[in-house]
Amino acid sequence: MYNIDNLLRENIKKLTPYSSARDEYQGEASVFLDANENAYGSPLAQQFNRYPDPLQYEVKKRLTEIKGVPPRNIFIGNGSDEAIDILFRSFCNPGVDNVILVPPTYGMYEVSANINDIEARKVLLTEDYQLNLEGIAEAIDERTKLIFICSPNNPTGNSINREDIETLLANFNGIVVVDEAYINFSRQKSFIQELTEYANLVVMQTLSKAWGLAGLRVGMAFASEEIIRVMNKVKPPYNVNESSQQLALEALANVAQVNNWIKETLIQRDRLVLALKEFDFVVDIYPSDANFILVKTTDANGIYDYLVSKGIIVRNRSKVELCEGSLRITVGTPEENTVLLDTLKNFGN
Ligand SMILES: *Cc1c(COP(=O)(O)O)cnc(C)c1O
Repeated sequence: MYNIDNLLRENIKKLTPYSSARDEYQGEASVFLDANENAYGSPLAQQFNRYPDPLQYEVKKRLTEIKGVPPRNIFIGNGSDEAIDILFRSFCNPGVDNVILVPPTYGMYEVSANINDIEARKVLLTEDYQLNLEGIAEAIDERTKLIFICSPNNPTGNSINREDIETLLANFNGIVVVDEAYINFSRQKSFIQELTEYANLVVMQTLSKAWGLAGLRVGMAFASEEIIRVMNKVKPPYNVNESSQQLALEALANVAQVNNWIKETLIQRDRLVLALKEFDFVVDIYPSDANFILVKTTDANGIYDYLVSKGIIVRNRSKVELCEGSLRITVGTPEENTVLLDTLKNFGN
């Protein structure tokens, strides 16, 4: 049976979180002499002399309107990378516990595991980049705390079968993290709808991809109230800065603009797939539910170096198991995609 108390680290269970000046006084007041801020202002046109809201309430309220999830079920991090790290620090005892990763997948899960001295048990995806449920079941033991599933998956681009993720959620007594960084580009629906069904589900999303705000560092985790409470307790008190909160709020008003870009990206993705198929050095193009495509080639290193020499950078994934010979290409603007395709026409000449 899943029970958060069996998963939490003892020190986190007992932790008294940092109490900030703004935590201790929350009413209306006009004179704030409680946080050792500079009362005169900032040497800027815009004022940042006050500490930001530790729980990012305005941003969460707006996310509630967009995602249909109440603020108490939302965690906001300094990028989703912070949410990943906080899950490790909350649930995994260094040198003792383990997590399950399903490569080829996003590299940060393993880096975060290594930083926290947590064993990462790797169960390769199948040839068609789906979960090996038997292999995962064998790898799980009583010290397994987290399973990371990325869907749509980076770098392969495909979505992971929904029923397989639900099988894990229903049978694993630890936490299943579903990383939906690319969900806006997907034909699949989000797992956010399943939050009421599964207490051990964490859905991660980010403003770094479709929302075009990678530079602001704003990532979200959606989960049960008890998981979010723990994450808020463990995070640095002011983990999302004031400027990022203000700009994120402003950006979240522009849903229509983002939806137009998503539509255009999907059109451009189809265009790239059609055009790339025609090159003889392209062996295979994997179906993508994301804003990038994984392209298997006869000479990944040669093409990569050639593109670099022309000032075009793609991601060389040819050293990654199950991605041999493959390049990961992000869908660009129509003009950028034209430059890419025109340049590739001269490869080998
Ligand atoms: C890009 C990406 C993220 C985003 O991370 P941020 O820290 O929010 O920028 C998360 N997960 C995956 C799989 C990604 O590819």
